[in-house]
Amino acid sequence: MKIKLFLLSLTVGAGLTSSAQSPALVDYVNTLQGTNSKHELTRGNTYPTTALPFAMHTWTPQTGRNGDGWKYQYFKDKIRGFQQAHQCSSWTRDYAVFSFMPMSGKLVVNENDREARFSHANEIAKPNYYKVKFDNELTTEIAPSERGAHLRFTYPKGKQSFLVLDGYTGISGIKIYPKENKITGYVHNGEGFKEGFKNFFVIQFDQPFKSWGTWENKNNTINADSTIAEGLGKGAYLEFKAGTVVQVKVASSYISMDQAALNLERELGKDNTLEKTKAKAAEIWNASLGKVMVEGGTAADKATFYSCFFRASLFSRKFYELDRKGNPYYFSPYDSKIHTGYMFTDTGFWDTFRAQFPLNTIMHPEMHGRYMQALLDAQQQCGWLPSWSFPSEAGSMIGNHAISLLADAWTKGIRTFDPAEALKAYLHESTNKGPWGPANGRDGWKEYFQLGYVPYPKYREATAKTLEYAYDDFCAWQLAKSTGNDFYAGIFERQMYNYKNVYDPSTRFMRGRGEDGKWTPNFDPTEWGGPYTEGNAWHWQWSVFQDIKGLSQLMGGEKNFTAKLDSVFSEPNKVNTGSYGGMIHEMTEMVMANMGQYAHGNQPIQHMVYLYNYGGQPWKSQYYARKVMHNLYDATENGYPGDEDQGQTSSWYVLSALGFYSVTPGTDQYVLGSPLFNKITINLENGKKFIIEAPANSAENVYIQSATLNGKAYTADFIRHTDLINGGVLKLEMGNKPAVGRGLAEADKPFSLSK
Ligand code: CA
Repeated sequence: MKIKLFLLSLTVGAGLTSSAQSPALVDYVNTLQGTNSKHELTRGNTYPTTALPFAMHTWTPQTGRNGDGWKYQYFKDKIRGFQQAHQCSSWTRDYAVFSFMPMSGKLVVNENDREARFSHANEIAKPNYYKVKFDNELTTEIAPSERGAHLRFTYPKGKQSFLVLDGYTGISGIKIYPKENKITGYVHNGEGFKEGFKNFFVIQFDQPFKSWGTWENKNNTINADSTIAEGLGKGAYLEFKAGTVVQVKVASSYISMDQAALNLERELGKDNTLEKTKAKAAEIWNASLGKVMVEGGTAADKATFYSCFFRASLFSRKFYELDRKGNPYYFSPYDSKIHTGYMFTDTGFWDTFRAQFPLNTIMHPEMHGRYMQALLDAQQQCGWLPSWSFPSEAGSMIGNHAISLLADAWTKGIRTFDPAEALKAYLHESTNKGPWGPANGRDGWKEYFQLGYVPYPKYREATAKTLEYAYDDFCAWQLAKSTGNDFYAGIFERQMYNYKNVYDPSTRFMRGRGEDGKWTPNFDPTEWGGPYTEGNAWHWQWSVFQDIKGLSQLMGGEKNFTAKLDSVFSEPNKVNTGSYGGMIHEMTEMVMANMGQYAHGNQPIQHMVYLYNYGGQPWKSQYYARKVMHNLYDATENGYPGDEDQGQTSSWYVLSALGFYSVTPGTDQYVLGSPLFNKITINLENGKKFIIEAPANSAENVYIQSATLNGKAYTADFIRHTDLINGGVLKLEMGNKPAVGRGLAEADKPFSLSK
């Protein structure tokens, strides 16, 4: 690990972009972070995403078979294509994909036979630029735009030069225009891709075609000289002058072929070389990553920070396009109609409500405001609020967390939507079960309403559902209360304490509970699954984001509460596989992390290290926040402790490195931990700056001794969103010993419903 980080620090600033900044922020990013993943063990489940921030389409090399969710695995040594990708997670697989594969000497269309060997030494993987030279000397480069990319293929001298366009796993259509050096077409593939929903593309080449034809990728039959094909897995192939260099501009649209052509003209039309597209992409990334400037820390810390910030800046995707006048409009994945306005897709709220969206409220409030209105528009088109949009609503995982985003946005001053409309949509969501997926509407809503909890085993993962529903109800109450919607406030106020109904005082754990009120027998807190989602009782104990104080009181007070937090780390990292019947990757990752029952590789426990602040031991939050950053993250292919999950696990790191975390989205507070750098400047969209100064900060000096905010003594264990957004300076005196007297007053503790 140390050697790799050292090598990485050498490549930083090695002239990967022509920017005068030294090094440019984009050069700190390693897009291979987290790519050394497989089904049974995840180090991120990422792919080397070559894209602009929150862009509609991304690009990646492909080492896996067409349709495989593990599209690029670091340990593999052969590439079979370069694809346009949109994937959220290896577990959901991709949609709207097509790919290119260059080859020399001989035309080979079969995806298995055309694979070319490469080594990572001949690969550059940056957000604005991907380059790989195969062992056969053929070089591919990619530079992204928002809805397209510039590619360049450099063929070895003296050999026949071919390019294959692969139509991937579904229906596709292809038309070759030999006189115009152009191909147009569409693909329709992927599970989230509804009827009538096509990804149209236009591909413009800067070299004439020597020969051409179409093919299909099931039987790999070739139709030489043909210029048109439509059907399952139809593609094209081209031959260029031997040993040439070919630049390719490609752009796509979900609206129409005309719009794809407009996207190409607007984003890539003037830039006739890949260098220009690459430089433009570097500029956009440097501006986006430059929203946070850090000083101090090691080169490895900076690489990890900016690599995580990059991953935190990809989801949700912009799903809208701009018409000729520049007005936004989109093809709705919900009702398959064209609408004006903004739309965003590709995120699972179960993961991302926790930190990724709260981070966006700080870094991208304008975009976030557009998104909030788009959420309500999606509800109108779909009949349900999105919970897992990919690109339409999948209803995966648990909870109704759209309300968390909406309440959080409102609390933080975003006024782009009608709160009454949001509450109406949420009431419908929380008192109905939709036709698909457990998080499409509310699974077990009737019993939750009547009993105050979701009974187990009548409903799977029932205790996890109860806990998250109660938090969501808090968010609705919060939004209703602050906007004078008393009718809704009354309903949800009654339910936001429902977490108490699944707490068993005899074992002091959140447990499964039957309709008869009896606890599920044979309790083992290390047992995964059953009433819990992807975790056990140790992980789900803490999912009371809205009322940690109330939780602490249930557990017998602060002493018991913090002792139990300690136990999470001191318990053996033993796994009872429970209802999963075998090790799932999240279990293996917890064992590997070797931090007891602390399972940072999955979402339920990710806020836990910050909870010591509520129990009178803030220094332990400072200690563990730094320890998790240090032990479980780096910028390498093994850089995450589990699934990255649409920016969530990265956003945990970004916020933690700033020195705070969003324990309770829906409130205006971020709970303090320990910042990673000596000085951090947040450049806000409103032109103001918020600066976190910690001059004595180091790997040893992780403890906050005292603090000032804008020059005044600051004793709180949290920072308010308003204080961030108004700009200012939070100055932290750091030391190597806990300041056991700081931040203990009731008024210094972060938000809880209970007093
Ligand atoms: Ca996860």
